[in-house]
Amino acid sequence: MMKKIKDIVLAVEGLTVSFNGFKAVNDFSMYVDEEQIYVIIGPNGAGKTTVLDLICGKTAATAGSIKFKGRELSRLNENQIVRAGVGRKFQNPSIYENLTVFENLELSYPQARTALGALFSRRDDKLIQAISDTAKQIFLDGFLDVQADYLSHGQKQWLEIGMLLIQNPSLLMLDEPVAGMSVAERQQTAELLKRIAKGRSVLVIEHDMQFVENIADHVTVMHQGQSLSVGSIQKVKLDPRVIDVYLGH
Ligand code: ADP
Ligand code: MG
Repeated sequence: MMKKIKDIVLAVEGLTVSFNGFKAVNDFSMYVDEEQIYVIIGPNGAGKTTVLDLICGKTAATAGSIKFKGRELSRLNENQIVRAGVGRKFQNPSIYENLTVFENLELSYPQARTALGALFSRRDDKLIQAISDTAKQIFLDGFLDVQADYLSHGQKQWLEIGMLLIQNPSLLMLDEPVAGMSVAERQQTAELLKRIAKGRSVLVIEHDMQFVENIADHVTVMHQGQSLSVGSIQKVKLDPRVIDVYLGH
Protein backbone atom coordinates (compact mmCIF):
# COMPACT_ATOMS: atom_id res chain seq x y z
CA MET A 1 0.00 0.00 0.00
CA MET A 2 1.14 3.51 -0.80
CA LYS A 3 1.64 5.73 2.21
CA LYS A 4 -0.21 9.00 1.87
CA ILE A 5 2.29 11.79 1.41
CA LYS A 6 1.46 14.68 3.70
CA ASP A 7 0.78 18.06 2.20
CA ILE A 8 3.02 21.02 2.78
CA VAL A 9 1.14 23.53 4.93
CA LEU A 10 3.78 26.22 5.16
CA ALA A 11 6.42 26.92 2.52
CA VAL A 12 8.94 29.62 3.38
CA GLU A 13 11.29 30.45 0.51
CA GLY A 14 14.18 32.89 0.22
CA LEU A 15 12.92 34.79 3.26
CA THR A 16 15.08 37.81 4.03
CA VAL A 17 14.74 40.76 6.35
CA SER A 18 17.26 43.52 6.66
CA PHE A 19 17.41 45.84 9.68
CA ASN A 20 19.52 48.85 8.64
CA GLY A 21 21.57 46.66 6.35
CA PHE A 22 21.92 43.78 8.84
CA LYS A 23 20.25 40.64 7.51
CA ALA A 24 18.70 39.04 10.62
CA VAL A 25 17.10 36.46 8.29
CA ASN A 26 18.99 35.79 5.10
CA ASP A 27 17.59 33.71 2.21
CA PHE A 28 15.91 31.30 4.64
CA SER A 29 13.72 28.44 3.40
CA MET A 30 11.67 25.86 5.30
CA TYR A 31 8.79 23.47 4.51
CA VAL A 32 6.34 22.41 7.22
CA ASP A 33 3.98 19.48 6.59
CA GLU A 34 0.51 18.96 7.98
CA GLU A 35 0.39 17.39 11.45
CA GLN A 36 4.13 17.87 11.79
CA ILE A 37 6.01 19.16 14.82
CA TYR A 38 8.76 21.25 13.26
CA VAL A 39 11.45 22.65 15.54
CA ILE A 40 13.87 25.49 14.85
CA ILE A 41 17.02 25.41 16.98
CA GLY A 42 20.18 27.49 16.92
CA PRO A 43 22.30 29.91 18.94
CA ASN A 44 20.97 33.18 20.36
CA GLY A 45 20.67 35.84 17.69
CA ALA A 46 20.42 33.28 14.88
CA GLY A 47 17.14 34.82 13.67
CA LYS A 48 14.66 32.23 15.00
CA THR A 49 12.22 34.65 16.64
CA THR A 50 12.46 36.96 13.64
CA VAL A 51 11.28 34.09 11.38
CA LEU A 52 8.14 33.78 13.53
CA ASP A 53 7.71 37.59 13.46
CA LEU A 54 7.82 37.44 9.66
CA ILE A 55 5.35 34.55 9.40
CA CYS A 56 2.80 36.17 11.72
CA GLY A 57 3.11 39.56 10.01
CA LYS A 58 4.65 41.42 12.95
CA THR A 59 7.68 42.22 10.78
CA ALA A 60 7.62 42.84 7.02
CA ALA A 61 10.00 40.81 4.86
CA THR A 62 12.57 42.48 2.65
CA ALA A 63 12.40 39.58 0.19
CA GLY A 64 11.07 36.06 -0.17
CA SER A 65 7.73 34.33 0.14
CA ILE A 66 5.68 32.73 2.91
CA LYS A 67 2.99 30.46 1.49
CA PHE A 68 0.44 29.06 3.94
CA LYS A 69 -1.91 26.52 2.33
CA GLY A 70 -0.94 28.07 -0.99
CA ARG A 71 -1.78 31.60 0.13
CA GLU A 72 0.89 34.31 0.27
CA LEU A 73 1.03 35.59 3.86
CA SER A 74 3.52 38.38 3.31
CA ARG A 75 0.77 40.46 1.67
CA LEU A 76 -1.60 40.10 4.66
CA ASN A 77 -1.68 42.03 7.93
CA GLU A 78 -1.44 40.40 11.38
CA ASN A 79 -5.21 40.04 11.87
CA GLN A 80 -5.70 38.54 8.43
CA ILE A 81 -2.93 36.04 9.15
CA VAL A 82 -4.61 35.01 12.42
CA ARG A 83 -7.90 34.59 10.56
CA ALA A 84 -6.13 32.51 7.89
CA GLY A 85 -5.37 30.03 10.70
CA VAL A 86 -1.95 30.93 12.10
CA GLY A 87 -1.64 31.24 15.89
CA ARG A 88 1.53 32.47 17.55
CA LYS A 89 2.66 32.32 21.15
CA PHE A 90 5.33 34.75 22.27
CA GLN A 91 8.11 33.96 24.76
CA ASN A 92 6.39 35.69 27.68
CA PRO A 93 2.77 34.70 28.20
CA SER A 94 0.31 37.45 27.35
CA ILE A 95 -2.68 36.50 29.45
CA TYR A 96 -5.07 38.66 31.47
CA GLU A 97 -3.66 38.21 34.98
CA ASN A 98 -6.71 39.68 36.74
CA LEU A 99 -9.20 37.40 34.96
CA THR A 100 -9.92 33.73 35.63
CA VAL A 101 -8.78 30.86 33.41
CA PHE A 102 -12.38 30.56 32.18
CA GLU A 103 -12.54 34.27 31.28
CA ASN A 104 -9.17 34.20 29.54
CA LEU A 105 -10.33 31.33 27.34
CA GLU A 106 -13.71 32.98 26.79
CA LEU A 107 -12.09 36.20 25.55
CA SER A 108 -10.04 34.18 23.04
CA TYR A 109 -13.02 32.33 21.62
CA PRO A 110 -13.40 33.54 18.02
CA GLN A 111 -17.06 34.49 18.32
CA ALA A 112 -16.29 36.83 21.22
CA ARG A 113 -16.08 40.06 19.25
CA THR A 114 -15.15 42.50 21.98
CA ALA A 115 -14.00 42.09 25.55
CA LEU A 116 -17.16 43.65 26.94
CA GLY A 117 -19.37 41.69 24.58
CA ALA A 118 -17.70 38.46 25.67
CA LEU A 119 -18.09 39.15 29.36
CA PHE A 120 -21.70 40.26 29.31
CA SER A 121 -23.19 38.08 26.60
CA ARG A 122 -25.09 34.92 27.59
CA ARG A 123 -22.65 32.05 27.73
CA ASP A 124 -24.01 29.51 25.33
CA ASP A 125 -23.45 25.75 25.52
CA LYS A 126 -21.07 25.67 22.58
CA LEU A 127 -18.79 28.22 24.20
CA ILE A 128 -18.83 26.44 27.57
CA GLN A 129 -18.09 23.12 25.84
CA ALA A 130 -15.16 24.65 23.91
CA ILE A 131 -13.73 26.18 27.11
CA SER A 132 -14.12 22.92 29.00
CA ASP A 133 -12.51 20.85 26.21
CA THR A 134 -9.63 23.30 25.89
CA ALA A 135 -9.05 23.48 29.64
CA LYS A 136 -8.81 19.68 29.76
CA GLN A 137 -6.24 19.67 26.96
CA ILE A 138 -4.02 22.20 28.78
CA PHE A 139 -4.28 20.44 32.19
CA LEU A 140 -6.31 23.31 33.68
CA ASP A 141 -9.79 21.82 33.95
CA GLY A 142 -9.56 22.03 37.72
CA PHE A 143 -8.54 25.69 37.55
CA LEU A 144 -11.31 27.36 35.54
CA ASP A 145 -12.33 29.68 38.38
CA VAL A 146 -8.76 30.52 39.40
CA GLN A 147 -7.50 34.01 38.65
CA ALA A 148 -4.64 33.73 36.16
CA ASP A 149 -2.04 35.47 38.32
CA TYR A 150 -2.30 32.62 40.86
CA LEU A 151 -1.16 30.06 38.26
CA SER A 152 2.40 28.74 38.15
CA HIS A 153 4.67 29.95 35.36
CA GLY A 154 4.10 26.67 33.49
CA GLN A 155 0.34 26.85 33.89
CA LYS A 156 0.38 30.39 32.50
CA GLN A 157 2.24 29.09 29.45
CA TRP A 158 -0.39 26.36 29.03
CA LEU A 159 -3.20 28.89 29.39
CA GLU A 160 -1.76 30.94 26.58
CA ILE A 161 -1.48 27.81 24.43
CA GLY A 162 -5.15 27.17 25.28
CA MET A 163 -6.08 30.71 24.25
CA LEU A 164 -4.60 29.93 20.83
CA LEU A 165 -6.03 26.39 20.64
CA ILE A 166 -9.59 27.58 21.22
CA GLN A 167 -9.26 29.50 17.95
CA ASN A 168 -8.45 26.19 16.23
CA PRO A 169 -5.45 27.36 14.14
CA SER A 170 -4.04 25.03 11.47
CA LEU A 171 -0.55 26.25 12.29
CA LEU A 172 0.49 26.95 15.87
CA MET A 173 3.84 28.68 16.47
CA LEU A 174 5.49 28.62 19.90
CA ASP A 175 8.62 30.52 20.92
CA GLU A 176 10.54 28.68 23.69
CA PRO A 177 7.43 27.19 25.31
CA VAL A 178 9.23 25.25 28.07
CA ALA A 179 11.67 27.96 29.20
CA GLY A 180 11.38 28.24 32.99
CA MET A 181 9.26 25.09 33.32
CA SER A 182 9.89 22.27 35.77
CA VAL A 183 10.90 18.82 34.47
CA ALA A 184 7.37 17.52 35.04
CA GLU A 185 5.83 20.51 33.24
CA ARG A 186 8.19 19.98 30.29
CA GLN A 187 7.07 16.37 30.06
CA GLN A 188 3.42 17.41 30.12
CA THR A 189 4.04 20.11 27.51
CA ALA A 190 5.65 17.53 25.21
CA GLU A 191 2.52 15.35 25.55
CA LEU A 192 0.33 18.39 24.93
CA LEU A 193 2.15 19.38 21.74
CA LYS A 194 2.08 15.81 20.38
CA ARG A 195 -1.63 15.63 21.05
CA ILE A 196 -2.44 18.99 19.44
CA ALA A 197 -0.30 18.16 16.39
CA LYS A 198 -2.94 15.57 15.48
CA GLY A 199 -4.96 17.83 13.22
CA ARG A 200 -2.58 20.79 12.89
CA SER A 201 1.04 21.72 12.31
CA VAL A 202 3.16 22.98 15.19
CA LEU A 203 6.25 25.14 14.70
CA VAL A 204 8.42 25.41 17.80
CA ILE A 205 11.58 27.31 18.71
CA GLU A 206 13.37 25.62 21.60
CA HIS A 207 16.76 25.31 23.28
CA ASP A 208 16.08 22.34 25.56
CA MET A 209 17.58 19.51 23.50
CA GLN A 210 15.95 16.76 25.53
CA PHE A 211 12.58 18.36 24.84
CA VAL A 212 13.45 18.82 21.16
CA GLU A 213 14.44 15.16 20.83
CA ASN A 214 11.18 14.18 22.48
CA ILE A 215 8.86 16.17 20.22
CA ALA A 216 10.54 17.00 16.90
CA ASP A 217 9.46 15.35 13.65
CA HIS A 218 11.78 17.62 11.71
CA VAL A 219 14.43 20.19 12.62
CA THR A 220 16.07 23.23 11.07
CA VAL A 221 19.23 24.57 12.65
CA MET A 222 19.53 28.32 12.10
CA HIS A 223 22.79 30.23 12.21
CA GLN A 224 23.34 33.88 11.27
CA GLY A 225 19.93 34.15 9.61
CA GLN A 226 20.43 31.07 7.47
CA SER A 227 19.45 27.44 7.48
CA LEU A 228 22.59 25.53 8.48
CA SER A 229 21.24 21.99 8.66
CA VAL A 230 17.85 20.36 8.05
CA GLY A 231 16.45 16.92 8.79
CA SER A 232 15.67 14.59 11.67
CA ILE A 233 17.10 15.49 15.08
CA GLN A 234 19.29 12.38 14.86
CA LYS A 235 20.71 13.64 11.58
CA VAL A 236 21.35 17.28 12.53
CA LYS A 237 22.85 16.28 15.90
CA LEU A 238 25.67 14.53 14.05
CA ASP A 239 26.30 17.39 11.60
CA PRO A 240 29.78 18.74 12.42
CA ARG A 241 28.72 22.30 11.53
CA VAL A 242 25.85 22.08 14.03
CA ILE A 243 28.17 20.75 16.73
CA ASP A 244 30.59 23.55 15.91
CA VAL A 245 28.17 26.51 16.12
CA TYR A 246 25.58 25.22 18.59
CA LEU A 247 25.62 21.85 20.27
CA GLY A 248 29.31 21.90 21.17
CA HIS A 249 28.78 24.90 23.50
P1 ADP B 1 16.95 34.39 18.06
O1 ADP B 1 15.49 34.32 18.31
O2 ADP B 1 17.46 33.30 17.18
O3 ADP B 1 17.75 34.46 19.33
P2 ADP B 1 16.31 36.96 16.89
O4 ADP B 1 15.46 36.60 15.74
O5 ADP B 1 15.63 37.49 18.10
O6 ADP B 1 17.27 35.75 17.27
O7 ADP B 1 17.37 38.07 16.44
C1 ADP B 1 18.22 37.89 15.32
C2 ADP B 1 19.06 39.14 15.16
O8 ADP B 1 18.25 40.18 14.64
C3 ADP B 1 19.66 39.66 16.45
O9 ADP B 1 20.95 40.12 16.16
C4 ADP B 1 18.72 40.79 16.83
O10 ADP B 1 19.40 41.73 17.58
C5 ADP B 1 18.31 41.32 15.48
N1 ADP B 1 16.96 41.94 15.47
C6 ADP B 1 15.80 41.28 15.72
N2 ADP B 1 14.75 42.11 15.60
C7 ADP B 1 15.26 43.33 15.27
C8 ADP B 1 14.68 44.62 14.98
N3 ADP B 1 13.36 44.82 15.02
N4 ADP B 1 15.54 45.62 14.67
C9 ADP B 1 16.87 45.43 14.63
N5 ADP B 1 17.47 44.25 14.86
C10 ADP B 1 16.69 43.21 15.18
MG1 MG C 1 14.39 34.20 20.13
